[in-house]
Amino acid sequence: GPVLGLESSCDETAAAVLAPDGQILAEAVLSQADHATYGGVVPEIAARAHLAHLPGLVGQVMRQAGLGFDGLAGIAASSGPGLIGGLIVGSGVGKGIALARGLPFVAVNHLEAHALTARLPGLVLGGAPFPYLLLLLSGGHCQCIAVEGVGRHVRLGSTIDDAVGEAFDKVAKMIGLGWPGGPAVERLAAQGDPTRFAFPRPLRGRPGCDFSFSGLKTAVAQVVAAYPPGPLPAQDAADIAAGFQAAVVDVMADRAARAIELFRARQPEGRLMVVGGGVAANTALRTALERVAAARGFGFAAPPLRLCGGNAVMVAWVGIERLRLGLTDALDHAPRPRWPLDAADMSPTGAGP
Ligand code: ATP
Repeated sequence: GPVLGLESSCDETAAAVLAPDGQILAEAVLSQADHATYGGVVPEIAARAHLAHLPGLVGQVMRQAGLGFDGLAGIAASSGPGLIGGLIVGSGVGKGIALARGLPFVAVNHLEAHALTARLPGLVLGGAPFPYLLLLLSGGHCQCIAVEGVGRHVRLGSTIDDAVGEAFDKVAKMIGLGWPGGPAVERLAAQGDPTRFAFPRPLRGRPGCDFSFSGLKTAVAQVVAAYPPGPLPAQDAADIAAGFQAAVVDVMADRAARAIELFRARQPEGRLMVVGGGVAANTALRTALERVAAARGFGFAAPPLRLCGGNAVMVAWVGIERLRLGLTDALDHAPRPRWPLDAADMSPTGAGP
């Protein structure tokens, strides 16, 4: 039967109902616009907003799907990593329904949700087969992962300082753009000259596939600091945005190429690179990564934009994949603000990959 998925790990409140074959029966997402006033997500406000909106969204998607709770095969709720207040709300709502109706509960790792989205049958024809290489690029994470099975994920590299989305958000703030910064930087970059400012390409050419963005961020801050206080001239802001984005794209392309090498050494059969996370919405980045993959004989898959950021479709999908393997969680499962994808408790055997 279908699975109800709930997402509340950050500032999106979302619910979705998926059929076992991955067909989306209903979905709803509310983005909490209030945070823009503060220039970032305020955890307390986010938690209260989830509390206010999630029950209504659940009712909405169940009506839309034409189902009662008894028609569900299980409930899947984002249970980490993320902001603990929101996680407690979402997993609590999920557990309440599971308890009342005697349904299985799946505590979903939000990163595994990004990781397994490519297996939705509509994306890659028939769903991406294991193994594949995942670049997880979001506001909180920046990692290269070998996805080898449900709960079997091997981190090949990650950022040694900021996440890439965080760098976009911080640069946006420096050049006077609103929050979230990524989409605003991308729009402005389209009007700028990417060659005017020579920003550094941290770690480019180094072995491994770790990332670093703090040096690039500092370089942008230094350029901005040379201007008098107040708004930057419009063209200068556009040139900075374009220069910054070009540096990110260059670094990513280099790191992705290294990640493919490392992945191949582990998984000679692997032939697919997948991107996930909010930054995967960036068109310049997608284009560059697709080229890197193609040059190495790899296929490339990127979820549609609405499945890149916070959404419950991907959470429900993990529920379907885990239930299929008989993997459920107890109702006293504790939400985890930190929950690495390669943690032992992710694996079906409890032993790590
Ligand atoms: P996580 O999923 O790791 O917990 P998160 O909730 O911050 O973190 P997402 O919602 O997946 O992550 O992504 C949000 C991030 O994506 C923000 O940093 C935002 O600036 C960035 N982003 C969104 N669209 C774009 C874009 N077009 N270009 C670059 N960055 C983008």
